[in-house]
Amino acid sequence: MEFTSKPPMRLMTPARQLDCQISAGVFSQKAPAGLKKPGEFFLLADKGPAGLVLVVRKGRKFLDFRGKSKILEWSTRSDSDQYESRRRKPMLEFKYESFSSRIVLPNGLEADRTIEARVSPITGRTCRITYSRGEEREPGGETLPAPPPFAEDSDSCPFCRALLLTHTPKIPPDICPEGRMVRGTSTLFPNLFPYGRYSAVSIFDDNHFVEIGTASLQSYVDSFLNCRDYLLRILSYDPAAVFMAITQNHLPSAGGSLLHPHLQIQADRIPANFQRILQARAVAYRRQTGSRLFSDYLKSERESGERYIGATGPWHWLTAFAPEGFFEIWGILPGVTSFRQMTEVQWQNLARGVLNTQHFYRSLGRNGYNLGLLLLEDGSDDVELRVVLTVRSNYAPWVRSDFTGFEIMLGDMATFTAPELTCEKARSFWQKETAASAAP
Ligand SMILES: [Zn+2]
Repeated sequence: MEFTSKPPMRLMTPARQLDCQISAGVFSQKAPAGLKKPGEFFLLADKGPAGLVLVVRKGRKFLDFRGKSKILEWSTRSDSDQYESRRRKPMLEFKYESFSSRIVLPNGLEADRTIEARVSPITGRTCRITYSRGEEREPGGETLPAPPPFAEDSDSCPFCRALLLTHTPKIPPDICPEGRMVRGTSTLFPNLFPYGRYSAVSIFDDNHFVEIGTASLQSYVDSFLNCRDYLLRILSYDPAAVFMAITQNHLPSAGGSLLHPHLQIQADRIPANFQRILQARAVAYRRQTGSRLFSDYLKSERESGERYIGATGPWHWLTAFAPEGFFEIWGILPGVTSFRQMTEVQWQNLARGVLNTQHFYRSLGRNGYNLGLLLLEDGSDDVELRVVLTVRSNYAPWVRSDFTGFEIMLGDMATFTAPELTCEKARSFWQKETAASAAP
């Protein structure tokens, strides 16, 4: 073994942070049990009671051979880490800064609390990952909550079939003579309380309460295709209403006003903030580089692998580098800049990824989430399609909201978990799907 001295660095294990002296080299013989092939390693001299810690890099994973546990969060990405900086040369800047806040605990001991500030390469917006808050007990987050007490109240639900035709509004006849649009199990009609010029809801099916992760694929495909058909009608009726979106608020904790699952569809002549910011950034990036923003982002993320989860057809799924919501997952469809270019199979692939994400969220004991697919149909072709999903806090009596003064007043979302760790946990839900589809 040959060692090269490196400056001190900080390693974050599941248990605690370690200030370490690091050496690096190449294993040629006597690899630790579990490592079959020679490879790069880091030898960390821990200042703490654990003594020496051997960390081996195997592919992109770091294995801790002290306790056979995996190193979950690697926060040593300093200039001194030549191994990392040589490997990562992204076209886009993935800026972050790790720092700590020193406090004196009630028992008198000093503690450093690590915080990471990240800048989104897509929007330039900053966010925080406040790791220590992950230890905070969050009421209602221990297990998947029971269905709400009104889950059976379908008799008074305007979205259930019995009342739908008499209790929901109709689309004006010059846009849709039938008034409501039906596609498979899905029915689409205007929002009784519109947010914009064209505001509609698309019901999945007649199931009044659908627990997260239990919806059928076909109900999502039907509902998405109904949204597509509605947006096509709007574009031919009002070609200036080019700022479009499909969103979902699953359960009241995510903003859903009715329990019965549905998507919202928006189309307007006025862009929303995120549509405007996204378009400006994508246009500037393309002018500067000649490439499309999301294609380059995806390419960079696939090379890094740290946040890349998997694919459903041409849709690629990854955790957001700088999340603005809890356990934020993106699906990117590279090369496609308009929903009008999407095939039915691609809508199906989108629905598959959305359901995989739901299965993952359910495994975290979370039942509410938001989904958003922003569409810019102004003829520009800079912004490729991207869907975003984030978890919301579970309902519990007097649970605090997941948006605090920090998010509302300072505008920086503060989540608790490293996106790289979220990605590791989420991957199996894509692998399970691949295995299931490969089965005879
Ligand atoms: Zn209902």
